[in-house]
Amino acid sequence: MTTSIAFIGLGNMGGGMAANLVKKGHAVRAFDLSEEALARAVTAGATRAASVAEAVAGADAVVTMLPAGKHVEAVYTAEVFGAAKPGALFLDCSTIDVATARRVIAAAAERGFEMVDAPVSGGIAAANGGTLTFMVGGEATAFARAEPILSAMGKAVIHAGGAGNGQAAKICNNMLLGATMAATCEAFAMARKIGLDPQTFYDISSISSGQSWSMTSYCPLPGVGPQTPADNGYEGGFAVALMLKDLKLAMEAAAAANASVPMGSAAEGLYQILLNRGQGGKDFSSLIQLLE
Ligand code: NAD
Repeated sequence: MTTSIAFIGLGNMGGGMAANLVKKGHAVRAFDLSEEALARAVTAGATRAASVAEAVAGADAVVTMLPAGKHVEAVYTAEVFGAAKPGALFLDCSTIDVATARRVIAAAAERGFEMVDAPVSGGIAAANGGTLTFMVGGEATAFARAEPILSAMGKAVIHAGGAGNGQAAKICNNMLLGATMAATCEAFAMARKIGLDPQTFYDISSISSGQSWSMTSYCPLPGVGPQTPADNGYEGGFAVALMLKDLKLAMEAAAAANASVPMGSAAEGLYQILLNRGQGGKDFSSLIQLLE
């Protein structure tokens, strides 16, 4: 069924996601503050809108893919709520703080709109290829309506519970990833210093209890394990700056919930050092260079 979808935020991620909605037969009306981003979406088959309100008017669903919580809150409260048709469904796919996600979804509900937070796992290549994983927070009825739209942009759509739980799942997962990568880098660096060949360490640890995704799928050492950004000079992959963004969101949520997160906090400190050294654009596994 063709759904009329407003898509706001057509950057690195949103551009590919909007193009996939078009490919799956949806009518997409696009808006971005950046003319360049908007022009790319139009080339991919979306219709140009001159404002958020124009994109949203009459649409069955509104998808947003914006940088941070402040953009999401401003776009919905100042522009989307007043322009959307009654019964429109809202899907925010941005990675933002749990508190803002819950506040915006509650504000939408007060105005009679169903909304989900649906952050993604997977980077620009997955956004372009339609292979993202969506972690979704919201009422079961909203999830049921959101699922077919998200499926057009991804390979997996998982209901994580009530409002904000998509963001909660995303930051808990990425905090775990940040910490396991830091520990994996630390172990490889130490192995080498005490005279253990890194390949031998990999062969043993990758089938022993130290194994993790950070080691066997995303090994931080070049020439060891599968092809990863380490084999490409730490270019591409998942940027230090984005990992740090997610860790900061995790620390914020932990403080609000009074959760103890010493490992996540240590990882945040390490990625912050990388950023301060000008390595924000490098893959996050480049942390091994700091520890070596
Ligand atoms: P981006 O900066 O490339 O794109 C954001 C777009 O939003 C920009 O084109 C910007 O012009 C637009 N925008 C900002 N304010 C706007 C407004 N008021 N109205 C209309 N458009 C507006 O960022 P991105 O890399 O596409 O990331 C988007 C979100 O996805 C972020 O929350 C990020 O954390 C998350 N994310 C990114 C990746 C990644 O690999 N890039 C992976 C997973 C999740």
